[in-house]
Amino acid sequence: MTGERRNSFDVAVIGAGMAGMAAALFAAQRGLSCIQVGSGGGVLFASGLLDLLAVHPAAEGRQWQSPFAALAALAREQPDHPLARVDPASIRTAFETFVTALGEAGLAYAPLDERNRKVLTSIGTLKTTFGVPLSMVAGANALDALDAPNTPNTPPRCLLVDFRGLREFSARQIATTLADRWPGLCHGRIEFPGFEDVPELYAAHLARALETGETRDRTIALIRPMLGDAQLVGLPTVLGLGRCREVHAAFEAGLGVPVFEIPTMPTSVPGLRLLGALETVMSARGVRRRRLASVRALAFDANTGTATLDLDGVPGGERVSARAVVLATGRFSGRGLTADRGGVRESILGLPVHQPASREAWHQRDFLDPSGHAINRAGLRTDDAWRPLDMSGKPAWPRLFAVGSILADQDWMRSKCGSGLAIATAWAAMQQLADQLHGNTG
Ligand SMILES: Cc1cc2nc3c(=O)[nH]c(=O)nc-3n(C[C@H](O)[C@H](O)[C@H](O)COP(=O)(O)OP(=O)(O)OC[C@H]3O[C@@H](n4cnc5c(N)ncnc54)[C@H](O)[C@@H]3O)c2cc1C
Repeated sequence: MTGERRNSFDVAVIGAGMAGMAAALFAAQRGLSCIQVGSGGGVLFASGLLDLLAVHPAAEGRQWQSPFAALAALAREQPDHPLARVDPASIRTAFETFVTALGEAGLAYAPLDERNRKVLTSIGTLKTTFGVPLSMVAGANALDALDAPNTPNTPPRCLLVDFRGLREFSARQIATTLADRWPGLCHGRIEFPGFEDVPELYAAHLARALETGETRDRTIALIRPMLGDAQLVGLPTVLGLGRCREVHAAFEAGLGVPVFEIPTMPTSVPGLRLLGALETVMSARGVRRRRLASVRALAFDANTGTATLDLDGVPGGERVSARAVVLATGRFSGRGLTADRGGVRESILGLPVHQPASREAWHQRDFLDPSGHAINRAGLRTDDAWRPLDMSGKPAWPRLFAVGSILADQDWMRSKCGSGLAIATAWAAMQQLADQLHGNTG
């Protein structure tokens, strides 16, 4: 049964990072009425690349070509890791569902296959990831040559173009950094049409400007004479915001070669696109969003089986109730966890946080220690149904779930599994949550 009163919902999702977005999306797809509270801060920093699992064990920095082989190793060697607790078939379905929804909102991803891809970054390094936006995939295809079993095999000749005044992206720097591995990489710089007198450019402004046909045509006309024998062209992520697909297609048609984007620094155009697409999907599926609000207090009523959330940041305040709650509040940067001299605390309910025994054990002596810092594996422990535990080791409330980076026993930054952790645990928890609401479990 769905919520009938305006302020009463099946599910309340606290948090609007990748995990909260995925949880709200999956709830709506299951036909559950849903309210989501929180700002999309974390998503704005995203590169648009959806990592599943690129590195395992993190201490060895071993990179995997197949994220599913990496997941199998993780399940054997680190069974408490949240990603190891979700079956691979569900992870694949979760990713497919997530990128399909983004595609419906105009943010297309390349078809997902069994392998990780390599993508060029704006500092000339290669990033291993799983889900690649369509506008970036020609670069990943070119880089496949680096992993080809039969050497010698070099990527195709490629022209990288940047714009005078766009400080966050230097085509020359990328080409220089990669010269040994990608000898056919050359670079060029143009003035961005209409911004010739502007000393400092920002990718988001250029992306918006390229959504107008005239600026687009003038930009393509400036790049065309630089092509030479280049077989593809790389640009910073400026090919449109909401109309990325159309702008990207126009560049490929106008230049006559595949064109790819290289993610720029946060706050990034890919992050803005992702946030825009997720908001479109949520709104189309009826998710109520409180973007500027935060949950001040959360209480549970055992008699009615409902949770009550008191919101700040809404004029006059607001109180909503829900039959189930998903905690997707992140770690320290998301504010799901706070740290002080006494230790690490969960911010809303004061749930027990799995953490090192003392502050001295939070960090290794060497900041760059390959085994990482224990504090980055702190977080909530849950039962098999993704319900965070109270001091007695029992679920804190039968229909309170935790997803994403607030979970313990993982270091997503070092394992390169940020989106994977968010999407997979949101999917798995939503399955349990739906079962609970439909009375399929005890
Ligand atoms: C710079 C950067 C680059 C990244 N690049 C990649 C990448 O290339 N590929 C990839 O896969 N992943 C990447 N990630 C990681 C990924 O996108 C997610 O940030 C990460 O998985 C954590 O997501 P999360 O939703 O668990 O937490 P967060 O993103 O931290 O979100 C927590 C949310 O909870 C909200 N919140 C907290 N307390 C409250 C409260 N009381 N009431 C309401 N709301 C509250 C916050 O406002 C926020 O919306 C990157 C992250 C960062 C920061």
